[in-house]
Amino acid sequence: MSHPVFSIVVPIYNEEEVLPELYRRLTGAMDAQGETYELVFVNDGSRDRSLELLRGLADGDARLKVIDFARNFGHQAAITAGMDLATGDAVVVIDADLQDPPEVIARLAEKWREGYEVVYAIREKRQGDSLFKRSTAAAFYRLLRRVTSVDIPLDTGDFRLMDRRAIEAFKGLRERHRFVRGLVSWIGFRQTGVAFVRDERHAGVTKYPLRKMLKFAFDGLTSFSFAPLQLATYSGFVTAFTAFLGILWVVWVKLFTTEALPGWASQIVCTLLLGGIQLISLGIIGEYIGRIYDEVKGRPLYITREILGNASRTDTPRAPGPGAGATFPHA
Ligand code: UDP
Ligand code: MG
Repeated sequence: MSHPVFSIVVPIYNEEEVLPELYRRLTGAMDAQGETYELVFVNDGSRDRSLELLRGLADGDARLKVIDFARNFGHQAAITAGMDLATGDAVVVIDADLQDPPEVIARLAEKWREGYEVVYAIREKRQGDSLFKRSTAAAFYRLLRRVTSVDIPLDTGDFRLMDRRAIEAFKGLRERHRFVRGLVSWIGFRQTGVAFVRDERHAGVTKYPLRKMLKFAFDGLTSFSFAPLQLATYSGFVTAFTAFLGILWVVWVKLFTTEALPGWASQIVCTLLLGGIQLISLGIIGEYIGRIYDEVKGRPLYITREILGNASRTDTPRAPGPGAGATFPHA
């Protein structure tokens, strides 16, 4: 079997409620294009009936490939696995919950045919997201832009199309705390965006609670910036300078006045303030050291229990990047 033109990568975590509709909408949109395609569904350790449903779909459709993770490795690992195993000339990553309308893929493909190697979808309106999510996301991406040299486009998620060349480059980036949208910007190539209106989640609830969102944001910040570390240095300079002024004042009072200094309150305030700044700085350094430790361990980004579907049996996979998931031994 030769390689399909399109691979559609979908990360799936407890999405039993949306799977049938997702499959219907996705195949509908792709059939309309009249090109060959494969669907690469990554089951990220779902605890509901998602895998069962995926098995049923794969039995009836040779275009479907299902990567079943050994546990929940997270959204970013799931889309990485999909990109590793996709064989298409163009690879599209799309969320399972139909917030990213499959019909937009045709417009991404149009730009690809014009010669762009990465076409990301820009969220013009985010109907489905809460005010809290929209405003924190807006603030975060603007902050990220200020403190990194990588040009991460605003208001984009992981919904995008990548040319085979960009995918092969991306497969070489095996860092563990993954911020995929940043990595894709980092690789370069000809990139452009297409605006779309983000829908509401078709069914079910978000699989990104605040805890996961914060971890994701911190991974993005630390992967692409030393700003938090520099912040520790700057605050160190500021407090040291203030302390110096304080010393001059203390010496002056001691030598040239007769005032008795009660001094208790100022002592406590200084101790607490300095202690706080020191602990925050240590914490920031610790975050980076923890990430270095994770990288040094060199564990695979994900572990696959099995790959289901006809496509996996007949296809010769394209060469994986160095140190791809555990299904491929390290190069
Ligand atoms: N997802 C995943 N693993 C996770 C969390 C989420 O594969 O640990 C998938 C999820 O099934 C969906 C996509 O990532 O296809 C985006 O998640 P969701 O729509 O819940 O996030 P939101 O749109 O609310 O940010
Ligand atoms: Mg969603």
